[in-house]
Amino acid sequence: MDELIKEIKDPDSVWIEYKTSSYGGTDENNEAKWIPKKFYRCGKCRRGTVVRTPYCPYCGRKMNTGN
Ligand SMILES: [Zn+2]
Repeated sequence: MDELIKEIKDPDSVWIEYKTSSYGGTDENNEAKWIPKKFYRCGKCRRGTVVRTPYCPYCGRKMNTGN
């Protein structure tokens, strides 16, 4: 399940950051390994990407990347 970390004021022009993890096989003790990952969702069209670009590649929304 995806966990919403934060949502910012102007929801249309920000990447919404999500934290997720994917199964990465087992380690030497036969324990399942989970690899943490981050991805971002466009505040306007809600499509996901792993890179925060200045413009949404899907809907062209100019993003407020800030930091
Ligand atoms: Zn978009």
